[in-house]
Amino acid sequence: MNSALRVSQSASSGFAVLVISKALPLWTGLRDGRAAQFAAGIIRSVRDGYNVCIRGKAGAVGTRRRNSRGARRSDRCDQPAEMCIRSLMRRTRPALRALILALLAVTAAAPLDADQWGAILVAGREIWPGETKRFPYGGETSFEAAYIDAPVFVARGIRAGPSLCITAGIHGDEINGTEIARRSFSWVDPQDLRGTVIVFPMVNAAGVRSGNRYMQDRRDLNRAFPGTSNGSVTSIIAHTLFTEISRNCDYLIDLHTGSFSRSNHPQTRVTGKDNRALELARHFGVGIVVIDEGPNGSIRREASDIGIPAIIYEAGEPSRFDLDQIASGVQGIESVMTHLGMLEGGKAITVPESRIYTQTNWVRVPIGAGGYFFPTVELGQVVRKGDRLGTIIDPLTDRYTAISADQSGEVIGLAVAQIVLSGYALVHLGVQHR
Ligand SMILES: [Zn+2]
Repeated sequence: MNSALRVSQSASSGFAVLVISKALPLWTGLRDGRAAQFAAGIIRSVRDGYNVCIRGKAGAVGTRRRNSRGARRSDRCDQPAEMCIRSLMRRTRPALRALILALLAVTAAAPLDADQWGAILVAGREIWPGETKRFPYGGETSFEAAYIDAPVFVARGIRAGPSLCITAGIHGDEINGTEIARRSFSWVDPQDLRGTVIVFPMVNAAGVRSGNRYMQDRRDLNRAFPGTSNGSVTSIIAHTLFTEISRNCDYLIDLHTGSFSRSNHPQTRVTGKDNRALELARHFGVGIVVIDEGPNGSIRREASDIGIPAIIYEAGEPSRFDLDQIASGVQGIESVMTHLGMLEGGKAITVPESRIYTQTNWVRVPIGAGGYFFPTVELGQVVRKGDRLGTIIDPLTDRYTAISADQSGEVIGLAVAQIVLSGYALVHLGVQHR
């Protein structure tokens, strides 16, 4: 490709982001910052021939304002990006519509070209092909800046390729993920890498240091994405990270463990609506795959919704390093990188179809039966309906309550022995697979 064409493609892509991000708020009622994230996602989706999801359509603005949660669910769109944009632009002036479609057409024609491969800009830093950098996100000196300051690791391969982002420590006490992220990055050599690896190893850095799941303002960061630039500290951090993700990531792996004294059998979770994301989960190759959409506001769900294939890996329990689960996680990331063509000679593994669960259920403490819980099953164990899963003892009455499986399935999550109250989730069963 000649350089004049490359320059015009790059300029048209930048201009299209600008125009779309200015026009999207008018079409959909999105805020300005959010619209810029969407615009970057749309451009990437068009260029790579992906589908894209848009929340809110022209004419649906009133609905969003009256009931934005309802609108979020109902306005999902699984059409190719160009179709989505056409339907969004039903009410746009014909001349503006023609201009945007022309810009997108030029952008879509731009292939990933080796001699275009230059520096990537992450959090304001340039990282050139062949370079590895570790730096703090912020750099400002102020009282509040400390909350936003979190480490970033970037390795830019010498050859063009996809950009894989890895986030860990979004829940500060889920430390297996932080060590998986550290090990995975320390073994990346940009001389052998095709593409870019961007790691946010301790997103909730203060929480990792203090062993706290939540943020300093006691909010759950993984319910706050995509965030806002003028909200709570948690919301600002969510917005800051999500903006980097939407600009720079072609794929996302978010690393977690079980929560609140529960342990998880190694598992990836992924939306059932995006085949590229499902392939990512299958090629993680470790444990099982659970198909679910994830909670609103989680980074995985929100990234999926702007067209970035995203998976979550959950293994082990909070506040403890589990070396086997950590090794499995590192192996999973190597396998994904091999699948994406980022590594040559890496070890690729896949999860078989029979290990992809489409339905899972929790067995909970019966109402009034709280007490001391002692499990009698292990993670990964297959149980039949009626099998004993554990016992709860009321320490004041000596009453024993047997906890049994109400369906046949595989134990994929399990509360450790502890004091439990009515309704607490004890055993997670994978009950139906593909
Ligand atoms: Zn978590």
